Amino acid sequence: MKAFTYQRAGSATQAAAAALKPGAKIIAGGTNLLDLMKLQVETPSDLVDINRLPLDRIEETPDGGLRIGALVRNSDLAADARVRQRYGVLSRALSAGASAQLRNKATTGGNLLQRTRCYYFYDITKPCNKRNPGSGCAALAGFNRIHAILGTSELCIATHPSDMAVAMRALDATVETVNPQGETKYVPIAELHRLPGRTPEIETSLTTGEIITAVTLPPPPPGVQLYRKVRDRASYAFALVSVAAIIDSTHGRIRSARLAFGGLAPKPWRVAQAEQRLTDATANAATFEAAANAVLEGARGFGGNDFKIPLTRRTLHGALAEITKT
Ligand code: SF4
Repeated sequence: MKAFTYQRAGSATQAAAAALKPGAKIIAGGTNLLDLMKLQVETPSDLVDINRLPLDRIEETPDGGLRIGALVRNSDLAADARVRQRYGVLSRALSAGASAQLRNKATTGGNLLQRTRCYYFYDITKPCNKRNPGSGCAALAGFNRIHAILGTSELCIATHPSDMAVAMRALDATVETVNPQGETKYVPIAELHRLPGRTPEIETSLTTGEIITAVTLPPPPPGVQLYRKVRDRASYAFALVSVAAIIDSTHGRIRSARLAFGGLAPKPWRVAQAEQRLTDATANAATFEAAANAVLEGARGFGGNDFKIPLTRRTLHGALAEITKT
């Protein structure tokens, strides 16, 4: 590991200002960053510790939503009674992520900003356009079982690994940030993560020095919430395919639908056309298939991950059948 300086930030604005320095990194739970440092994928010159900032509260908002501080630990968020009762999809997604030990350390802000688990990104002997722009992408012709089928570019086919972010995407969360000038910004979660395009090394819309301070959830939408995650083993594994579904239906008739997917793309994936296919429709296999076709429009496998196309179809059918069966 390379030498670095360490400082504790006294305020969010101070942390943002410290993060402006080239090579500086913010550290909170450290569940991803420390691994990356040990492998020399990340070699920060300065670590700015924000763990002592008062960003660890979950508060009611005047409109009936919740404001979640960036330092709220994943396990605390999953266990919060308000989250469990009103945002079951989020509680379930959090509980499906990582291991209990990691969830006790990992934070809300860090979870959103975690890096891909592409094997080649973590192996500094391999070409990777995200880690080393212009070096190539070893995954394209390599072992790409866990890689994306939607939203890819010829430079990068990595997925975003978060479960929590998928649920927050279905819930239309807003990410709150502060910059070194102390200005607050509100970013819809749909606009936080970027597709790789020609610049896979740029993963979010945050500017240098801009740090996440909170995530706000609007009041819960009507309907039943479900998070279904398909993975290679029952725990401590990333999603091959996951779906966050919020469906309002009665007696087989769907009134409204929200769907977000994980494991398929470089960001939590939501397709408005798929939700439209389900809205004001009868809950049956033909309707579910029409939604799956909309989700998978433009999907492309790269050999090892071709199976994700039929797996997505089956996962969606299963989730929708379960959620609309009453
Ligand atoms: Fe790097 Fe992206 Fe290719 Fe993985 S998929 S090797 S992260 S460029």
